[in-house]
Amino acid sequence: MRTVELADRRVAAIGQGTWYMGEDPARKAAEVAALQQGIELGMSLIDTAEMYAEGGAEEVVGAAMAGRRDQVFLVSKVYPHNASQRGVPQACERSLRRLGTDCIDLYLLHWRGQYPLEETVEAFERLREQGKIRRWGVSNFDLNDMIELDNAACAANQVLYNPPQRGIEFDLLPWSQAQQMPIMAYCPLAQAGQLLQHPLLAEIAERHNATPAQVSLAWVTRHAGVIAIPKAVDPRHVQLNAAAGELSLSAADLQAIDQAFAPPTRKQHLAMV
Ligand code: NDP
Repeated sequence: MRTVELADRRVAAIGQGTWYMGEDPARKAAEVAALQQGIELGMSLIDTAEMYAEGGAEEVVGAAMAGRRDQVFLVSKVYPHNASQRGVPQACERSLRRLGTDCIDLYLLHWRGQYPLEETVEAFERLREQGKIRRWGVSNFDLNDMIELDNAACAANQVLYNPPQRGIEFDLLPWSQAQQMPIMAYCPLAQAGQLLQHPLLAEIAERHNATPAQVSLAWVTRHAGVIAIPKAVDPRHVQLNAAAGELSLSAADLQAIDQAFAPPTRKQHLAMV
């Protein structure tokens, strides 16, 4: 499995997302089992947020980590409307309680909101001093936001990235690589929509005895410093996602993908879901 240096640790380049987990109690056991299967297969980074199922996803993650916290690199996110001096520590306490842990490895601002960045960063730094978070970062920050943030303590930026949505390659990605700032790529499977039916991905997959989803994950993580966080509950998906960490695409594969999904030739606004 390819690895990436993130927040002073080395983590597998393919982790696990949790959006839409924790919404239905009848599915909780399957979600917990999927995350545990993923941890066993080496996808140690788990990405969650207070937003997902309004805390429900963090509870699923807490159950999945019970007895194996030390095997997990835990990422959670604070809502922008909680990103104030008073709101951040309160939101973090609630997250820690739901997650059943005393420390979050990486705590992100989910997207920019009404509070000044300095105020949120100060609150993050205080949590860090208290040992409640190990490092902090941001999400959905475009290049201008990163330049405005101008803070070397920021450990990562989590943004949308997949073959049809590759606007970050124009400016944000090269800038981040130059700063050695890891990018966490969300929706790396484009939420299992049309992309996974694309004939080119199917053709490349066949050549590698792989699946279109694995091709997408290998493509997203082909850059140094990029971590993909696919969400999967189906155990076959979990297994395939972990195995995608071994798949390397050829120069010809990459060129064919460039023809089907053109790389950006000018600045594009940061895409978000
Ligand atoms: P993904 O691109 O990860 O797609 C998830 C879908 O893909 C699910 O339907 C899943 O099905 C399916 N799937 C997973 N693996 C495979 C496979 N090998 N083959 C075929 N289908 C597969 O979308 P997400 O929106 O979930 O994004 C990933 C994660 O990124 C989120 O879960 C969340 O943690 C994070 N995120 C962050 C955002 C932010 O603003 N910071 C915004 C959006 C996402 P099944 O579950 O049935 O296995």
